Amino acid sequence: MRWGSLWCGLALMLASCTGRDDRRAETRPVPPNRLTIDSPQVRVCLANLGQLARFQALPDRDYGGGCHNFASVKLLDAGVPVANLGPMNCSLAATFTAWVRNGIMPAARLYLGSELAKVETFGSYSCRNVNGAQAGRLSEHASANAVDVSGFVLADGRRITLKQDWTSPDPAIRSFLVAIRTSACRRFKTVLSPDYNSLHADHFHLDMGRGPFCR
Ligand SMILES: [Zn+2]
Repeated sequence: MRWGSLWCGLALMLASCTGRDDRRAETRPVPPNRLTIDSPQVRVCLANLGQLARFQALPDRDYGGGCHNFASVKLLDAGVPVANLGPMNCSLAATFTAWVRNGIMPAARLYLGSELAKVETFGSYSCRNVNGAQAGRLSEHASANAVDVSGFVLADGRRITLKQDWTSPDPAIRSFLVAIRTSACRRFKTVLSPDYNSLHADHFHLDMGRGPFCR
């Protein structure tokens, strides 16, 4: 099934569902060289993503202070449903979808003997600094360029979470989680796992910003 025509309509619907920040956002000029939902290369990205995923294209929004979601989509299904996602820029959404389909799905079969049924996340876009600090550098989440993945539901009913299972007594579950982190590190610019620090004890942080960094 093709979704290309669907996202156009949804984008128009979303544009009419204006939120509190939208009037301010609409009066702010788009910086030069910024990719937008209408940029030719983003249209190519969306067309390619439409072959592999179900999504809604989102209106470009600049919330000030460096926070924005340009050229972004809300990913609904990346081969399996993905829970709790907000805006992700198209490049991130495409990388994420490839990781789900070519990294997580085969690893679930290989290590756990089950099909993947769902990916659970803590979200994607969030206007905040790195590590949620009061001061410092803006997080990649602030430009819809990062996603936090918290767990996986299998077709056999098992639910594997980073929080509970990174140190699972079951070696197959540990191998699954390490394998999909390795796969993520080949795809995303930065991957932070529970091995990085306690702030990431319950999720993989994946972004397309600086890097490469994998821990
Ligand atoms: Zn994160």
